[in-house]
Amino acid sequence: MAGSFDIVVIGGGPGGYVAALRAAQLGARTAIVEKDRMGGTCLVRGCIPTKALLQSSELYTLAKDGRAFGLVADNVGFDWAAAQKRKTAVVDQLVKGVEGLLKVGGVTSFKGAARLAGKGIVDLGGEEVQAKDIVIATGSAIARIPLPGAELTIDSDQILELKQVPKRLAVIGGGVVGMEFAAMFAALGSKVTVLEMLPQVLAMVDGDLVNVYTKHLAGLGGEVHTDSKVSRVVKQNGGLQVQFSTGGEGGAVDADQVLLAVGRVPYTQGLDAESAGVKLERGRVVVDEHLHTDGEGIWAIGDVIGGIMLAHVASYEGVCAVENIAGHSSRVPDYHAAPNCVYTDPEIAHVGLGEKEAKEKGIAVRVGRFPFAASGRALTLGQTEGFVKVLSDPDSGRLLGAHIIGPRATDLIAEATLAIQNGLTLEQIDLTIHAHPTLPESLMEAALAAQGRAIHVANRRSANPAAPTQTAQNHQNREKEMAATVKPSPSSPPPTPNAITPKALELKKENRDFLLGMHRQMQLIRRFEERAQEQYTKAKIGGYCHLNIGEEATVVGGIWALKPNDWIFTSYREHGHAIARGVDPKAVMAELFGKESGTSRGRGGSMHLVDYKLRFMGGYGIVGGHLPLAVGGAWAVKYQKQKDVVFCMFGDGATNIGAFHESLNMAKVFDLPVVWFCVNNRYGMGTPVEKASAVADIYKKACAYDMESIQIDGMNVREVMLRTSEILEKTRKDSVPRFIESLCYRFRGHSVVDPDKYRSEEDKVKWRKADPIVAFEHELESSGLADEEYFKNVRMEVDAQVRDIIQFADESPDPNPQDLYKYTYAGQWDNNPMLRTEKV
Ligand code: FAD
Repeated sequence: MAGSFDIVVIGGGPGGYVAALRAAQLGARTAIVEKDRMGGTCLVRGCIPTKALLQSSELYTLAKDGRAFGLVADNVGFDWAAAQKRKTAVVDQLVKGVEGLLKVGGVTSFKGAARLAGKGIVDLGGEEVQAKDIVIATGSAIARIPLPGAELTIDSDQILELKQVPKRLAVIGGGVVGMEFAAMFAALGSKVTVLEMLPQVLAMVDGDLVNVYTKHLAGLGGEVHTDSKVSRVVKQNGGLQVQFSTGGEGGAVDADQVLLAVGRVPYTQGLDAESAGVKLERGRVVVDEHLHTDGEGIWAIGDVIGGIMLAHVASYEGVCAVENIAGHSSRVPDYHAAPNCVYTDPEIAHVGLGEKEAKEKGIAVRVGRFPFAASGRALTLGQTEGFVKVLSDPDSGRLLGAHIIGPRATDLIAEATLAIQNGLTLEQIDLTIHAHPTLPESLMEAALAAQGRAIHVANRRSANPAAPTQTAQNHQNREKEMAATVKPSPSSPPPTPNAITPKALELKKENRDFLLGMHRQMQLIRRFEERAQEQYTKAKIGGYCHLNIGEEATVVGGIWALKPNDWIFTSYREHGHAIARGVDPKAVMAELFGKESGTSRGRGGSMHLVDYKLRFMGGYGIVGGHLPLAVGGAWAVKYQKQKDVVFCMFGDGATNIGAFHESLNMAKVFDLPVVWFCVNNRYGMGTPVEKASAVADIYKKACAYDMESIQIDGMNVREVMLRTSEILEKTRKDSVPRFIESLCYRFRGHSVVDPDKYRSEEDKVKWRKADPIVAFEHELESSGLADEEYFKNVRMEVDAQVRDIIQFADESPDPNPQDLYKYTYAGQWDNNPMLRTEKV
């Protein structure tokens, strides 16, 4: 055995080496295995060598056109061999740099072709290493097609090693790789012809941008044939000929070199992935939303999992995966602001929503454009081709997409990416001072143009100008808005309790909306909690922070079974409880942040969420302090002869304290309408329930008080809802207390500061497979009520909602110190009619 590690990463590309470095930062004993050169496709054969050569072709173009700038350099020529030498030097330097980083970062590097050789074992071609977790980052390979004469063509690896610039270059495939080489060689004087099967080259780019690029290429003598299917490549007159057909008509292009660039495919050769339990689907490794494969302890990232096959996405996924392994956070990759860059001339970059996609999906957008011809900086550079186009949400003003063609578009996209990722509005962009003269001013102008307020270009009449911004006024208005009571979010309405029957919960079309609403609520709670954990580690949340992750079915099923007039008394692990009850998640997060717009006006912080109107009485004290209060509440209900039920939720740990026994006793002796609901997530703090409690089946504890009690599967939301509802209705009728134990599993530590080291890996893996959200998704999918595309959209939507929630909490005002005691003492409530009762 050549060593034993916490994490072994297979593949040293931008996915793998970044994952390894992050893993080592997190304290994991980490190794990386690479069969070729460190840096992978990106450094050795992809991003870096192409951009080094493109820099040469750009300089050559500038020098040729230099006379107007005052540059006198007659007979400007191009030395391809020198450009190649420089490219190689850049690549070598970066490869060495990565090797150095890995060494300094404490990562052990192995050279060899890795194979998955059994649970936790990686074979390096003779030697073996042991790993608790394995990250597959084996990238992608060049796609091949059965084209007659394919052996006469060159691929993207071979074109980088050409000995000379071809006089005539034919490019089969108008994707990013094909178009970047087309741009490079056209600039160096090759006669370039592109053949693309689809109606547009760069299919994923906005058509308006592509038109600018193809026009530029035509100016250099390049030709683009779209809707053209290549039939063969043959030798002809000492060169090559590509034969193709366009709309049934034949055509042919003569060339000295033919580049076949029809894409890339995930690469798993020699890995023995399937024998290790890793599922492959059309060659790509299948992962769940946390980047875990079907193989135990095996994760995958980057090109090998398909999706967006770009270097920065691979690196991002690498960090997500190892942070998930380390339990540092539970990251679900969020791709809604993944930028895409094409290094053509002019450069192209885009991020977020496209105009075509918006149209197809029926999403209303407001568009703003700004041409580089109107940019002072572009004019000084002599590069005025192209424009910036922004798409925004007409209601909120949020930037949804940005599309740029022009000078340094690939750098300019960063500002738009940051804005979209963080949900910024056009106004927030235009209120930011942009340095002059710079190219980023063009994004600001496009943002202004979308609001009908562009300064350096005429505004379109139809642009419907927004009122001029009065910064201070706006700010005040915003503060007022935030201090106002938060209305329940329309996206998560509580269900109609009358509908809780076995029939209403069947996986049938007529119940679809209700069931999907329940699924969305569970997703919202999961994501809310994950982000709450992040906010805690950023010190935005003070005190303590307990999470409902893994308990979503128990929480949603249990609380949605209540009627609007029922009371809920719950413990301090209550964020999900509050959201499920219909408290606006914005108010919940604002409360955690200690802000005035929170449920308790920021006075409760992370420990006490109360919403009287929703009859939600959140945490009061540590472990079960609320149980006697629930008894008091139930007593009041009984005296008032109301048909409401008091629903009291607590964890398994609370069942070991005196207050639990006294409360149950009292409830039974006086026959109070209270339903005790124990969330048994298998651990009381860090101790397994069977070790912490003399009676491991907690529902049996209720027998001591002669109380009807049941145990339910808390990972199954429909079961929780149905069984809880049955018990609630019995208690509503006879005012007799009852007990429910909901068996679920907490995926995280007791609180966010619990490193959760007491659980075995087997335990975690076993329960991860029983994830209540995934289980419900399987049910919905197999009954045809939803599909993966739908779930993906929900995840994205929920992600965006939670970003909004955090932004709201962040921007909400702090409580006014003068009002600090206003809501503290009971006297303040004396005249509140809602709290007055009839005399008994
Ligand atoms: P890779 O970079 O492919 O790395 C995988 C590594 O795993 C390889 O080094 C391979 O040798 C190794 N490996 C495979 N199997 C094994 C095994 N069994 N044992 C040990 N090692 C193994 N992306 C951009 O974002 N921007 C660009 O400008 C850009 N330009 C590109 C230009 C070209 C010509 C090409 C081809 C690609 C370009 N890409 C670009 C795409 C980018 O290179 C990939 O998306 C990125 O490299 C994927 O990273 P990865 O870590 O997933 O895989």
